[in-house]
Amino acid sequence: MTSTGPAFKPGYALPSEVLEKLRNLLGERFSTGDADLLSYSHDYWPISLQWVLKGSFPWVPSAVAWPENTFEVQEIVKTAYGNSIPVYAFGGGSGVLGGTVPEKGGIVVDLKRMRSIRLNEEDMVVEAEAGVNGYYLEKYLNSKGYTLGHIPQSIYVSTLGGWIATKATGQFSTKYGGIEDMVLGLEAVLPWGSAVTLPPHPRTSTGPDLRRLFIGSEGVLGIVTRAWLKTCILPEERVLLSYVSETFEEALESVRRILKRGAKPAVVRVYDEAETKRHFYMFEEAYGRIMTVIVVEGDSGIAGAERRIVEEEFRGRMLGEEPVKHWLETRFMVKEASEFAPLGVVFDTIEVSVGWSRAMSLYRSLVEAVRAVKGTLFASAHASHFYPQGVCFYFTFAGVPRGNPEKYYNDVWEAAMKTTLENGGSISHHHGVGRQRRSWLKNELGPAFNLLKKVKTALDDKGVMNPGNMGL
Ligand SMILES: Cc1cc2nc3c(=O)[nH]c(=O)nc-3n(C[C@H](O)[C@H](O)[C@H](O)COP(=O)(O)OP(=O)(O)OC[C@H]3O[C@@H](n4cnc5c(N)ncnc54)[C@H](O)[C@@H]3O)c2cc1C
Repeated sequence: MTSTGPAFKPGYALPSEVLEKLRNLLGERFSTGDADLLSYSHDYWPISLQWVLKGSFPWVPSAVAWPENTFEVQEIVKTAYGNSIPVYAFGGGSGVLGGTVPEKGGIVVDLKRMRSIRLNEEDMVVEAEAGVNGYYLEKYLNSKGYTLGHIPQSIYVSTLGGWIATKATGQFSTKYGGIEDMVLGLEAVLPWGSAVTLPPHPRTSTGPDLRRLFIGSEGVLGIVTRAWLKTCILPEERVLLSYVSETFEEALESVRRILKRGAKPAVVRVYDEAETKRHFYMFEEAYGRIMTVIVVEGDSGIAGAERRIVEEEFRGRMLGEEPVKHWLETRFMVKEASEFAPLGVVFDTIEVSVGWSRAMSLYRSLVEAVRAVKGTLFASAHASHFYPQGVCFYFTFAGVPRGNPEKYYNDVWEAAMKTTLENGGSISHHHGVGRQRRSWLKNELGPAFNLLKKVKTALDDKGVMNPGNMGL
C-alpha cells in the first residue's frame, strides 16, 4: 500500500494456503489489489459514500472473488469456512444500508459473472443465475414477450440475487407483487459450502417453505446462486391516469377504496404537498395540492375493468396522461447522496410500511419528528406501494448539520425508526436492514429476534456469512 492513496486499514491478510487455493481456482478472477479492495469497501449506504468522499475507509475486504458458477462459489465458501474467514455476497452494490460493507475483513464474492438465463415458456418460468443484472433480465424477457413485473428504481445497477437477498420490490408492485411473490425456487450455497436446491413448483405443501428462509436473508444465511421466477406476458394495454386532490388523506383514501374492490393498478404513487411541488411543478393545477399517478395495465379486458373502478372510486380532479408520462420519463433519475455531501448537505430516504388504520398518524408524526431534528432543511414523503391492508411511505429528508454529519444522519434515523414503531409500522418496507437499521431490528421483532439469531447460529455456526449484517 502506498502512502499517497486513500487512507484505509487493510483487511487482514489471508493465510497463504487460502490465497494459493483461490488463485489456482479463479486465476485473474481473484484479487487482493488495492483498487479492488477499495472498490468493494462500500455500497450506496450514505455513510459509506462519505468514506469515499473523505478518502478514508474504515473497513475493507482482504480479497475479492468473481466466481462463474455454483461450483466455484462452493469452493470459495468451503475454503473460507474451513479457515473461519468471513464471506460477503455482492450483487450490484446498490444496497443503501451498508449490507455489503466488509466490516470484519474477509472475502467479497461478486456474483455478476453468473448471469445465464433460461426461459420455459410453457411453464411461464424463468431460471436465472443470481448475478444477472436486473435490466438485462427484464430486457431479455421483454424480447420474448414477457415481463417479470419487477422494476425497482435501481434496476440498472442491481442483480437478481440482491433483489432476493433484500426482499426488494419494484415500481409496479401493486399488480405484480414484491420479489417474494415471484420466486418459485432457488439454489443457495450454505455457510459450510454445500449447495441446496429448492426446485420450482406452482405451489407446494411440503413443510415450511425453505425458499423463504433466503428471501430477505441479506447474505447472512448463505449465497443465493440461482432462482426460478414467475413471468407474465407483456401487457396488451396500458392506461395512464392522474388526479389532483386537496389533501394527502383524501388521495390515500381513494386508493384504499380502489384496492378494496379488488382492482390492482400496477403503479400507484401519491405525493404529499411538498413532493408534488418538487416533482410536478410544471402542472399548475397541482400546485399546493396532492398529485396521484396511476398506471393500469394487462389484458385489455382486465385493464378496462380496473380503469372503470379507478375512475369510479377516485375522488379528485382528473388531470390526464401528461403527469404519468412525466413520471415514466423521469422515474430512474435520482439525486444521489454523493451529489449533496460535498455541499455539506446530508440527504437520504427511508421507507416504512403501516396498516391503513394508522397510516396518516405515522406519516404526520414521522415528518414532524424528522423536521424536529436540528439541522433539517426538509422532510417529505410519497406513498409508493399499496395493499388492501396498508401502504408504504417513502420519506426523503435533507439537512445541513452544524456539527458532525454522521451524528445528524443517525439522529434522523433514530427519530424515524422510533416514530414508526410507536405508530405500529414496520421499520423497512423494501430496502432491508443492512448495517444502518440493525440496532432497531430487535425492537421490531421483539423475542422473535432470538429465533432469527438461533436460525443464524444453527446454519452458520462459525459466523462466516456477512458477519454483523442485520445485527447477526
Ligand atoms: C437509486 C436507488 C434506487 C433504489 N430503488 C429501489 C427500489 O425501487 N426497490 C427496492 O427494493 N430497492 C431499491 N434500492 C435498493 C437496492 O437497489 C436493492 O436493495 C437491491 O435489491 C440490491 O441489489 P444488489 O444486487 O445491488 O445487492 P447488493 O447491494 O450487492 O447487496 C445487498 C445485500 O444482499 C446481499 N446479497 C447480494 N447478492 C446476494 C446473493 N446472491 N446471495 C445472498 N446475498 C446476497 C448482500 O450481501 C447485501 O447484504 C435502490 C437503491 C438505489 C441506490
